[in-house]
Amino acid sequence: MTVTPSAEFVPRHIGPQGDDIETMLNQLGYSSLEELIDTAVPADIRQSEPLDLPAPRTEAEALADLRVLAGKNVMKTQMIGQGFSDTLTPPVILRNILENPAWYTAYTPYQPEISQGRLEALLNFQTMVMDLTALPIANASLLDESSAVAEAVLLMRRANKAKATAKTVIDSNVFPQTISVVRGRAEALGFEVEIADLSAGLPEGEISGIVLQQPGNNGAVIDHASIIAAAKDRGAMVTVAADILSLTMITAPGEQGADIAVGNTQRFGVPLFFGGPHAAYMAVRHGLERSLPGRLVGVSVDDAGTPAYRLALQTREQHIRREKATSNICTAQALLAITASMYAVYHGPAGLKRIAQRAHHHARTLATLLTGAGHVLVSDSFFDTLHVTVSDAAATVAAADAAGINLRLVDGTTVGISTDETTTAAHVAAIAGVFGITDAAATAAGFELGAAVLRTSDYMSHPIFNTIKSETQMLRYLRRLSDRDLALDRTMIPLGSCTMKLNSTAEMESISWPEFASIHPFAPEHQTEGWRELITDLEARLSVITGYAGVSIQPNAGSQGEYAGLLAIRGFHLANGDTQRNVCLIPASAHGTNAASAVLAGMKVVVVKTAADGTIDANDLDAKIEANKDILSAIMITYPSTHGVYDADVREVCDKIHAAGGQVYIDGANMNALVGLAQPGKFGGDVSHLNLHKTFCIPHGGGGPGVGPVAVAEHLVPFLPGDATGTYTMRDGIPVVATLFGSAGVLPISWAYIAMMGGEGLTEATKTAILSANYIASRLNEHFPVLYTGNKGLVAHECILDLRELTNKTGVTAEDVAKRLIDYGFHAPTLSFPVAGTLMVEPTESEDLGEIERFIEAMIAIRGEMEQVLAGDFDIADSPLRNAPHTAASVIRTDWERSYTREQAAFPVKHLHQDKYFPPVGRIDGANGDRHLICSCPAPEAFEN
Ligand SMILES: *Cc1c(COP(=O)(O)O)cnc(C)c1O
Repeated sequence: MTVTPSAEFVPRHIGPQGDDIETMLNQLGYSSLEELIDTAVPADIRQSEPLDLPAPRTEAEALADLRVLAGKNVMKTQMIGQGFSDTLTPPVILRNILENPAWYTAYTPYQPEISQGRLEALLNFQTMVMDLTALPIANASLLDESSAVAEAVLLMRRANKAKATAKTVIDSNVFPQTISVVRGRAEALGFEVEIADLSAGLPEGEISGIVLQQPGNNGAVIDHASIIAAAKDRGAMVTVAADILSLTMITAPGEQGADIAVGNTQRFGVPLFFGGPHAAYMAVRHGLERSLPGRLVGVSVDDAGTPAYRLALQTREQHIRREKATSNICTAQALLAITASMYAVYHGPAGLKRIAQRAHHHARTLATLLTGAGHVLVSDSFFDTLHVTVSDAAATVAAADAAGINLRLVDGTTVGISTDETTTAAHVAAIAGVFGITDAAATAAGFELGAAVLRTSDYMSHPIFNTIKSETQMLRYLRRLSDRDLALDRTMIPLGSCTMKLNSTAEMESISWPEFASIHPFAPEHQTEGWRELITDLEARLSVITGYAGVSIQPNAGSQGEYAGLLAIRGFHLANGDTQRNVCLIPASAHGTNAASAVLAGMKVVVVKTAADGTIDANDLDAKIEANKDILSAIMITYPSTHGVYDADVREVCDKIHAAGGQVYIDGANMNALVGLAQPGKFGGDVSHLNLHKTFCIPHGGGGPGVGPVAVAEHLVPFLPGDATGTYTMRDGIPVVATLFGSAGVLPISWAYIAMMGGEGLTEATKTAILSANYIASRLNEHFPVLYTGNKGLVAHECILDLRELTNKTGVTAEDVAKRLIDYGFHAPTLSFPVAGTLMVEPTESEDLGEIERFIEAMIAIRGEMEQVLAGDFDIADSPLRNAPHTAASVIRTDWERSYTREQAAFPVKHLHQDKYFPPVGRIDGANGDRHLICSCPAPEAFEN
């Protein structure tokens, strides 16, 4: 017997096998998978060589490899601070959220009826942020503190119309990584940013907005009331970046008149993760809700009048507003926001305050000891961070390192010490020892926070933060919420463009190992060799897969990869003296983030039409190139296109752009249709981003985390973002887009996936994904016509089902079908993207044939119900389609008066008798929630009807 090299993991990852492949090929009329692939994928883009990757590792081997890498990281007590503080993840949250597929495999809650659990958790997050910041509206997370501040700056510039051309002023006491990211944004958009010491008052001139930080980069807690008042007097808006834990003790930004508060919620139970993923927050005053970036959970009602949650004001988002969107952020940090919110539920307001007071107490003890020994503090007013003047800071930091503690090397003569939830008296004594203090018996004396900065107001008084005390209650709350949702652990999620594939346990396992999870992003390089090796290796493997010369994993979502990639193109043109090249061509069918990112990169968006067959309209493309040839910067295309088809003429499109002096950006979100078969870096792309949370198995987490590596050809390598030195000077003027290695903490997932699949396994996965999509297209075509096909009537890895004609005939909409699928136990396919009135189905390679058949059966049964509408069996308004989804309450009522049976409502196909998912709410009225915007937890009484 021969053991194939991929014997262990590949068949665990790929659903259809053996006879199933045969069955599917028979349906399609192909004798082999090769033949199908050769027909579907245009020959002129096929890669000639197989992927040159190491042989596949078994699950056990990959985990052993990861153990070795993890072992090369050195764990220390992390007291560096600078926006990242160690924390204790309550085990009940670690296991039941961060390590629980019911939470981490969920999709972004765009289908609210099957997302009530995670929507409630995110609403808790918003309520917590609103209360702590004392501002009336908060969103459901942003990507990281630095980019959140950048978003706040842009929000101030949008909202403060009277100062549209004025400068933005950032206090010099803001974290250097934040200043770096904001500067990058400003440079691309061409507005002025001034860094000034605002404790000395406002600078001269017109000001759009100011950014303060509390506590400051140097740990100082300063009363901001007068500078905020002065800024407002001058017509400037005010953003305060605030440490979330400190807000339990320090006067909230909203109470001091700030318009916007932003920050990181990492220290609410989310591991350091070598820098991310962490959920940033943003809260705003009334009047700014419609320009708030990111997602916002709101309260609406369902068809029975029951309160129900949904994403509010989606009309602000990039998928609708495109280049006019409030921001390019799509994937954010839902899973981490949920973790932070549950940390708040677990500890409650009093518990959070105790944690803050303890950290503050340890810092005060240290201050007492250090000043007692004659050391000088940069500020006597602090929360958890002391900056101490020493003669040789590097020597002090090294001595602390030798004692097992990481301190912050601020400059040659300043050391930073940050306490946190994990700090103990022993740590305090050890640090005292580093400073030569042998008698560490002193207790805190003095250094109390002054009355002006001391918080007196209440927060988090909602019952959710005050009723869950025991672990049994907590466990059941988490379980109750996740039971309300449909995630990949229960059903296929056939969302086109989202690639909801297996997130295997072996891939997930290592991310919570402390050797990975407890490393501070600014820990010295000699402590992070394992991380750096893993990252370098992953970047190299992604280079091999994409055919590009260089990769940076810094961008922490696809949208950020787009932004970074476009900045690389911009940098390239500028370096060539082509300062006028700023037009970005974008096909009409593109994902909304493309246009929004182009605007952020300072480009002008010109839309290219779609031809009748779904490809880029060649005539329109020629005309747009001609009209812009001297100012053409780039084209952004998605390949295979968002229509799920391999456009045969993609090389020609790339050639035309290059001939006109432009660069080609290939959006790699659909890389699942290419891996091992074709390389964007070889068939015409100059730059692409990948979505590791799509193709490379990082779970969607209910709307994040993500990683959006940017991959570039040789000539663009110098313009990659990132600065591995951690000093946060811009590298050669190239802006960073996130902190250091972005969402490093989840990279072991993609690393393990690639390691366990090997080149052949990855290629097999791609082929199977294409086979499954074509199988579904072929089986469903007679029931729901497939909108676009390419070569020989084949699709790529997804297919668009066109319901428009059926809708015209029956009145049944694509939305009705999406909601009705819930009654069959399915998450809907992608609704009305990229074409309104359609459903886009992407099965991925991970779904076995049985599950695919179950989906096909449901779709055919739904088509049958549409026929019943047509036949007049029931009126559309009184149909199981329009009334979908059906809650348990709606079907067990005694006074059932609908023209279809209760059996048809809840159990339209037989196997549902055994496994039935009932949504907790019926169809939700979105408009109602937008008209009456409520974005915090409703009182429990609201549910008593
Ligand atoms: C998902 C997707 C994006 C955006 O990625 P995020 O990680 O959500 O920012 C961009 N383009 C396409 C085609 C996508 O499918």
